[in-house]
Amino acid sequence: MGLLAARELAAAGARVTVLERGQPGAESSWAGGGILSPLYPWRYPEAVTRLAAASQAMWPDLAEALAGETGLDPQWTRSGLLMGDLDPGEVETARRWAAAHGIPLETLDEAGARAVEPGLGKVGPPVLWLPEVAQVRNPRLVQALRRALELQGVEFRQGVEVQAIRTRDGGVRDLVTSSGTVPAGQVLVAAGAWSAGLLEPLGLVIPVRPVRGQMILFHGPPGLLHRIVLSRERYVIPRRDGHVLAGSTLEEAGFDKSVTREARQELMAEARRIAPALAGLPVVRQWAGLRPGSPTGVPFMGEHQEIKGLWVATGHYRNGLVLAPASARLVADLMLGRTPALDPAPYSPGREAA
Ligand SMILES: Cc1cc2nc3c(=O)[nH]c(=O)nc-3n(C[C@H](O)[C@H](O)[C@H](O)COP(=O)(O)OP(=O)(O)OC[C@H]3O[C@@H](n4cnc5c(N)ncnc54)[C@H](O)[C@@H]3O)c2cc1C
Repeated sequence: MGLLAARELAAAGARVTVLERGQPGAESSWAGGGILSPLYPWRYPEAVTRLAAASQAMWPDLAEALAGETGLDPQWTRSGLLMGDLDPGEVETARRWAAAHGIPLETLDEAGARAVEPGLGKVGPPVLWLPEVAQVRNPRLVQALRRALELQGVEFRQGVEVQAIRTRDGGVRDLVTSSGTVPAGQVLVAAGAWSAGLLEPLGLVIPVRPVRGQMILFHGPPGLLHRIVLSRERYVIPRRDGHVLAGSTLEEAGFDKSVTREARQELMAEARRIAPALAGLPVVRQWAGLRPGSPTGVPFMGEHQEIKGLWVATGHYRNGLVLAPASARLVADLMLGRTPALDPAPYSPGREAA
């Protein structure tokens, strides 16, 4: 979120510095799956659907621009999304939601689903097919973004932890960091799962908490699977080069990013149920990331109600990649005093208090 907002701000001529405790883009945005649609999208409030639609329209050009500027291709790919094992009531809800939003969605029987994904395993019909859902290879994306920002002249200070944000006369004065104070005109807190802790001392209490997600990675020959497949809250994502990601758990484990044997076993079994061809492949990696969880998945974006120049962009929960382009544009528009294309009210960081 921070990197994309920096891109928008720098493109408008602002001088931007990214302060990052670790490596830029190496936390949740690296750990995620890169599916560019909410899972079970009809379960979310309209504010998420609106942001997702605006972002989905921006993604192809953004990915192409980043590849062109940096030579690093984020591999935006329209894989489509198959979703099975839904109860009949939910299938009806999904169809109504898709019709209302003009989103192509088909209901397939077993043969139809297998025609779309020949590698499909035990995934119960009816299967919903959303052909326009795309994915991005998020570790490449963050690498490309970082490079693009350097070319734009954005300054990076990595290994620098922001410890406090200090104010003066109702505005931001400076940041206290692990390597000294940094003066700042405006500050955007895009600290993911760690954001709430930075804002609370400033009187802004937002319900953003870490929600751990574990993933595993298979590697096999390219073309084994073609589609993203979701069933019983578990999914597989085929990358172009034969890697297949399988995820993900949803765990309340505080800020603990360790991985567990149970999750590895469970994700392996579920992935092989969804796509039996994975049975012969080794798991080459397992990792965990901390999502910036919010109660309904609606992110918190906007200015602190009392402190001028203190901005927030966090709480994107399970959808921070799909929602990123329109979120970054919205936040940049607000910070620059431009009229945003989307109504910012549903995302206001102060909305819980209102
Ligand atoms: C397993 C998993 C699967 C996912 N799959 C998908 C998916 O398929 N599609 C999708 O859209 N989303 C997915 N997500 C969610 C998505 O990854 C997140 O919503 C998104 O990455 C959040 O971005 P962010 O910039 O807010 O947080 P982050 O990427 O975590 O960035 C926050 C940054 O702030 C830094 N930071 C924190 N505190 C400080 C401090 N005090 N000082 C300096 N720096 C600090 C951190 O080091 C970090 O780099 C998934 C997440 C996980 C974990």
